[in-house]
Amino acid sequence: MSERQLIDRFGRRIHYVRLSVTDRCDFRCVYCMAEDMVFVPREQLLTLEEMSRIGRAFVHYGVSKIRLTGGEPLTRRNVLQLCEDLGQLEGLRDFTITTNGSQLPKYAAALKQAGITRINISLDTLKPDRFKILTRTGEIEQTLKGIDAALTQGFKRIKLNAVILKHRNHDEVIDLVEFARAKGCDISFIEEMPLGVIGEHDRAEAYYSSDEILRDLRTRFDLQPIAEQTGGPSKYYAFPDHTSRVGFISPHSHNFCGDCNRVRVTAEGRLLLCLGQEHSVDLRRVLRAYPLDDQPLYEALEKAMQIKPQGHEFNLQAKPVLFRHMNATGG
Ligand code: SAM
Ligand code: SF4
Repeated sequence: MSERQLIDRFGRRIHYVRLSVTDRCDFRCVYCMAEDMVFVPREQLLTLEEMSRIGRAFVHYGVSKIRLTGGEPLTRRNVLQLCEDLGQLEGLRDFTITTNGSQLPKYAAALKQAGITRINISLDTLKPDRFKILTRTGEIEQTLKGIDAALTQGFKRIKLNAVILKHRNHDEVIDLVEFARAKGCDISFIEEMPLGVIGEHDRAEAYYSSDEILRDLRTRFDLQPIAEQTGGPSKYYAFPDHTSRVGFISPHSHNFCGDCNRVRVTAEGRLLLCLGQEHSVDLRRVLRAYPLDDQPLYEALEKAMQIKPQGHEFNLQAKPVLFRHMNATGG
């Protein structure tokens, strides 16, 4: 373990960073984006070299896990270069990516080669018409092909992510688990978080809790909680007869802040210290002011630990207090 560490005021050590490679995406999922999203002007985005530099600085501080996300990370031009740069960092033990899968038929093999160890693929429904409605622009065939392409590469673990909305896809939780088991993948169910104004539906009305999902699943499966600690917010369950696992990310029903070990960097270089709060530090300014000297960047990371909040305050009933959408957050 690196002797330099990032530790916040509450004694939580940061060893996990999510890097948003872009806020753009080829989908417009109804819980993530408004239909007419305005994206960050390209010149305000970090370059891939700047992202590598940030990744290196975090690993210098003992960060052992980096996840690339977005937006859709695989829509950023030359993203493989970034994967190759980060994949070589000594000390990085877990290098992962979250994707909607649409570009995986093209990229799965190259990602494996670049050193990506695990992949999360979002899949909220198995019905083509629903997929179209929920993603607005996506084609399920492409994502299913992406899942198969990833499976052929033998990544350590592939996990499906499903955001569950009442009356939109809550009736599919058993089918989604059957699908994950058939493919030998894990699956996590995510409660929708109130990030940004989306307009398409009322988030409070669409709330379907992890407890309801677990209750539904237990009508079919014998699911038992396991102590598996991924150092993250997921609570995992296992089957007696199968190696797939089922996770729940429950920001509303089971607050996960106490053990928070992570920070996020947006595609513009804003270091976000909490998913559900605005506390942030402008790393792009530091990078560009000191292109050849990493010391000011290190100091910015250390100082940022002093403003990491204790936790989020998500409230589905209140008007959104966070104007940031999930795609701009690095979900
Ligand atoms: N485009 C990639 C994807 O969809 O996997 C990566 C970025 S996406 C923002 C990361 C994850 O956040 C996805 O699993 C997505 O379903 C989830 N997500 C997006 N908006 C969300 C919201 N408002 N609440 C909860 N999860 C959300
Ligand atoms: Fe794109 Fe992922 Fe957001 Fe869907 S959840 S719009 S795929 S960034």
